[in-house]
Amino acid sequence: MARERTVVKGIVLRGVDTKESDRILTVLTAELGKVAVVAKGARSRRSRITAATQLLVYSDMVLSESHGWQILSEANTIALFDGVRQDVELLSLASYFAELTESVTLEGTESGEILSLLLNALYALGELHKPPEQVKAAFELRLMSLVGFAPLLDGCAVCGEEDPAEPVLDIRGGVLRCRRCGGENALSLTPGVLAAMRHVVYGEAKRLYSFTLPPEDQRRMGLAAESYVRAMLERAFRTLDFYKSLRVMSPTPKEGKTTDNQ
Ligand SMILES: [Zn+2]
Repeated sequence: MARERTVVKGIVLRGVDTKESDRILTVLTAELGKVAVVAKGARSRRSRITAATQLLVYSDMVLSESHGWQILSEANTIALFDGVRQDVELLSLASYFAELTESVTLEGTESGEILSLLLNALYALGELHKPPEQVKAAFELRLMSLVGFAPLLDGCAVCGEEDPAEPVLDIRGGVLRCRRCGGENALSLTPGVLAAMRHVVYGEAKRLYSFTLPPEDQRRMGLAAESYVRAMLERAFRTLDFYKSLRVMSPTPKEGKTTDNQ
């Protein structure tokens, strides 16, 4: 019986080693969404698919279905993201991107935009050397928007004012308000942060990182994006905690004084 073969491009979001030399991967593809893939013999030295089974490697993959499993039968790496891989802090942030992406994607659901978002974030970190806090905030907000949790930022949810002098984000309701319009669970933004958040949520994907904020505003946007993710998904991320612990320990933060947390 001929096995059904599928050719996809995919990035590894997670890999778990089995007792034999196999690895079970969680792969994000455009066509199949999130898919579980068995990489047989991936840890053997002679395996030609080993490189493609590492975390955050993007590859052409040939999958063969067998007993309900997708088996990785051939792979050619497209991008290893070495710039990210060689920096422990960037790798820890990218690992958070992978865990966050895994938590919001589904099997059997077209996921091309999410895949592009993740690939572009890794490129922005490792090749373009964009500030990690900027990439993190933009990635979080855009990802939430792509999976149906876009915050409503076009005007104050109470009075309709489009450009509040003192904007706040209601992180549980996912709406914008003026400070004077009251309400709870509100994080202070500034007009500059609001403009950057609108750019990220409503702008073109290919211009996602084309904004700059002064350090204090960047910190504020980072706090808003991270708090928003936590409020929407109602969970913590082990990889995020690790990334933040590295930044606290880091003697020379990469941009400004952004090591403080909540
Ligand atoms: Zn208002």
